[in-house]
Amino acid sequence: MFKAATISCVLLLSIFQATFAEIINIGIYHNAKITSFIFHPEEGTYSVFTEQGKLLDLDKSELLELKYVNNRIAIKSLDKDYGSFKKVHFIGTSWNNSFKIKSSKSKRIKIYEDNLFVNLHNYYNYFQLINNIEIDNYVAGVVESEVGRSPPPEYFKLQAIICRTYALKNLERHRAEGFSLCDKVHCQAYNRKPKSVLIKEAALETNGIVIVDSDINLITATFYSNCGGETAKSEEVWKQKLYYLRSVKDTFCLHENNAVWEKKIPKTKWTNYLVSHGFPKGSLQHECSVEYFQNCREQFFENQNVQIPFTTIRKDFHLKSAQFNVIPSGNFVTLKGKGFGHGVGLCQEGAMKMAKTGYSYIDILHFYYEDVHMINLESLAFFKADY
Ligand SMILES: [Zn+2]
Ligand SMILES: [Zn+2]
Repeated sequence: MFKAATISCVLLLSIFQATFAEIINIGIYHNAKITSFIFHPEEGTYSVFTEQGKLLDLDKSELLELKYVNNRIAIKSLDKDYGSFKKVHFIGTSWNNSFKIKSSKSKRIKIYEDNLFVNLHNYYNYFQLINNIEIDNYVAGVVESEVGRSPPPEYFKLQAIICRTYALKNLERHRAEGFSLCDKVHCQAYNRKPKSVLIKEAALETNGIVIVDSDINLITATFYSNCGGETAKSEEVWKQKLYYLRSVKDTFCLHENNAVWEKKIPKTKWTNYLVSHGFPKGSLQHECSVEYFQNCREQFFENQNVQIPFTTIRKDFHLKSAQFNVIPSGNFVTLKGKGFGHGVGLCQEGAMKMAKTGYSYIDILHFYYEDVHMINLESLAFFKADY
């Protein structure tokens, strides 16, 4: 019954589309230790504010240099010295605003949308840069940074919903540092304003849509490259059992780039490893005792009453996945594996294939996340309101 309600929610999205706009604070150049940079409007106009009030207006013909000097932010243009301050805010004043940054640490110019807050780092001698940005602009930047520009448009919509859900579920992650999310893979990769118009459209078209569980809480929308034919349950990889992160058989990814892998390692290295985990030394003399086949996704490498979680072996040998067979030959064993990544939640290569084949982003989400619902944030606020 809820599915029907979800579909109506999705159909109702267009009503809310123009109304939802959330601003989010992203720590950019995180840990890059920026001590000087040039700010240049790329689109629109900016007003510059400091702790003393408005300092000046900037348009595309102008640029400012900001430098860390004696625990202050010194501001200069090409022909004027504006003095030094404790904080500087660049606020966009046109309909669309974006700016270029050229930092002291990199030759590459990066472009970001909306506003920029410049603070002095609490403990160290460098700036803290915060991109104060409308969430859909951020989501589009993340989608392009995470998956590039080649997937089909339907896939961009799917990834936009996942990135938005992730961002809103993790708003507190960097609260102690004064922003919500950083721009590294620790949170979600966010490199710059997207170049692709299709990605921008996908973020705007799915405006406000997030994925929730049966208690109307935002889900942990995990994803990875390729499941190798079968996704993993959440508790197989992490401790937490989440009902919507179940194992599904996936034939869509079987012929994609990361479907299979191989790694050859010296046999002694492998047997020593098994012995260090409790396998009796004498039990590994014969080839057949080293051989191992995972018929379907298994949780433990299990033999001689000894168990090692496949996720542990994956970590210890830096393997692409925890799904593999062990085949001995001579002085080596070959690990023949399937998939790339932890395997929990959405399989990106499978999902891209589904999108190319004509499935909608709604079909694809329901395929990988069991019994979840897509809902608009306006509706989420309604469900969560106290009565
Ligand atoms: Zn982070
Ligand atoms: Zn897959």
